[in-house]
Amino acid sequence: MHQTIKNLNLINKELELISSKLPSIIAVSKTFPISNILPLIENGHSHFGENKVQEALEKWKNIKENFNHVKLHMLGKLQSNKVKFALPLFDFIHSLDNEKLAKKISDEQKNYEKKPKIFIQINLGNESQKSGIKKGDLKDFHLYCKEIDLDIIGLMCIPPVEEDPNFFFKELNQLNKNLDLKELSMGMSADYIKAAKNFSTFLRIGSKIFGNRS
Ligand SMILES: *Cc1c(COP(=O)(O)O)cnc(C)c1O
Repeated sequence: MHQTIKNLNLINKELELISSKLPSIIAVSKTFPISNILPLIENGHSHFGENKVQEALEKWKNIKENFNHVKLHMLGKLQSNKVKFALPLFDFIHSLDNEKLAKKISDEQKNYEKKPKIFIQINLGNESQKSGIKKGDLKDFHLYCKEIDLDIIGLMCIPPVEEDPNFFFKELNQLNKNLDLKELSMGMSADYIKAAKNFSTFLRIGSKIFGNRS
């Protein structure tokens, strides 16, 4: 059995111990060649994540045509001028964080049968170097997104590295509930157990499945 499949099985076993409703695991395959990813695809895994449009196009265009079960998630910063390339490829976008991008997606999605499912990224730690909208702007931003017909399914965060993520995961879960959103994108290799315990529905796990990125 391929190592990535073993790693994924182990993660699933851990998760089964802590919650009855298993979150979906997005295998974050950025920087890894498709040869490292194929075993998981052929084994039936559905959700994969990338953080750059150009890299994702090169790696996934053919794969997506050949494997219907594959769902691709855009996790990284999305430039408005890349939206027209991203929409045909990605099923989910986790990094919506400004009005210009929202408007662009709204305009472009009219060209396709299916709308992308979108998470609004929140900068919970108010870190200047990190993407995401501020907590205080969330309500208005969410309203705006609904007005322009975006399919907002939940919130996403990347907590500050040095701090206990529990605090931020709890807060994101609460903000999600306030807006009556159903999905929650939080938890990475270092903190997915904590995220699952805080009701995350999509864990974004890279190195724990594929190994360290060089
Ligand atoms: C790379 C990345 C991940 C996965 O990180 P790991 O620590 O390797 O699990 C998750 N989310 C985002 C937004 C990423 O860019």
